[in-house]
Amino acid sequence: IINFSAGPATLPLTVLQQVQEELLDWRGSGMSVMEMSHRDKEFMSIAAEAEKDLREVAGIPANYKVLFMQGGATAQFSLIPLNLLRGKAGADYVLTGDWGKKAAKECGKYGKANVAASSESEKFTKVPDRASWKLDPDAAYVHITTNETIHGVQFQDTPDTGGVPLVADMSSDILSRPIDISKFGLIYGGAQKNIGPAGVTIVIVRDDLIGQAAAMTPGVFDYKAVADNESMLNTPACFSWYVSGLVFKWIKNEGGLAAIGARNQRKSSLLYDYIDAQDFYKNPVAKKDRSWMNVPFTLPNPELDAEFLKGAKAASLSGLKGHRAVGGMRASLYNAMTEAGVATLVDYMKEFVRTRG
Ligand code: PLP
Repeated sequence: IINFSAGPATLPLTVLQQVQEELLDWRGSGMSVMEMSHRDKEFMSIAAEAEKDLREVAGIPANYKVLFMQGGATAQFSLIPLNLLRGKAGADYVLTGDWGKKAAKECGKYGKANVAASSESEKFTKVPDRASWKLDPDAAYVHITTNETIHGVQFQDTPDTGGVPLVADMSSDILSRPIDISKFGLIYGGAQKNIGPAGVTIVIVRDDLIGQAAAMTPGVFDYKAVADNESMLNTPACFSWYVSGLVFKWIKNEGGLAAIGARNQRKSSLLYDYIDAQDFYKNPVAKKDRSWMNVPFTLPNPELDAEFLKGAKAASLSGLKGHRAVGGMRASLYNAMTEAGVATLVDYMKEFVRTRG
């Protein structure tokens, strides 16, 4: 099966094979990682190695904490205001899709969620032009969603927020290409798209932003407490953390984020170039803001969707149904999707036009 699901998503085959090999007996320990105490030295070494590899792969500066939390990105965008408002009246949100909207709604429970810019009136088909952003210099932070998974809209560069900490939901493009972490105050993302099994949520946060959580913040969600306890304040998502560590090593072996990024660009170009060269399929997103990770496309008539999906399934292509908010199809091209997988999809799309178009 070639899996184009938006998440949980395909993982590198070699990683799955290694998990299989180590499943019953992790490196002579006589135990599965699933059975280990998180306080034992075996798991502590797995956890520390994963953080070291992530720091190396992503180029995370020493003044940033790396947290391996739970609750998914939804928990993170709900507790970011609790941790980062730091007594300020509110924060700025730049909306490029439904996930950013949800994040802003959560912030509204604790402070003012100022919509500094939004492309909702254009059905989230672009990043709002920079000149239209109304940033508040007193905002506690500026929140963006670097890749909106549903709409297929991605920031192609990192906005300058004039010294106000930039907070980014990177759930669907984390580790998909090199970025300069030092331009961000906080980055978060669930593991289940580019990193590993659902369960672990990665938070990368600059030192000086933690330690001022609102008094009502649950202890287990206070970044300072999580950092002080090396993400083991309570039982972490041990198995997911372990598999994520194997994926960080896989990224290193593939040549790091530069090589991964170049491949992701080639993969998405293959699909966009085909879509742009014909009239049957359409992608509505402004070319400059098109996502390398999630490519939504529509057929000329929604009545063809079911037939397209049926034929795709027969050709071993799965997970292509678009999100209900957008309709049509969506091909997710996360790190573990191969170039050959995308080529197979394009061949199938051509064949569908030839026979039914
Ligand atoms: N943010 C983005 C950009 C997403 O794509 C998703 C899930 O697909 C979420 C947040 C929510 O993630 P979770 O299910 O881990 O809470």
